[in-house]
Amino acid sequence: MQLIPMPKSRFLKVQCEKCKNEQIIFNKPAMVVKCLVCENVLAEPTGGVGNIKAKVLKIIS
Ligand SMILES: [Zn+2]
Repeated sequence: MQLIPMPKSRFLKVQCEKCKNEQIIFNKPAMVVKCLVCENVLAEPTGGVGNIKAKVLKIIS
């Protein structure tokens, strides 16, 4: 039995450029990630590593 290779995935702490809300997001989002406060788009899916549009403060893991 073969294991499915896990692509490198990380959680990022980002800050919304619009309202400065800090939020934890996944770096490979399956869908558009929006700021929970102002609904500004923080990350867009690309098929691989997402297109992160917010300011990355910290890589969590
Ligand atoms: Zn925001």
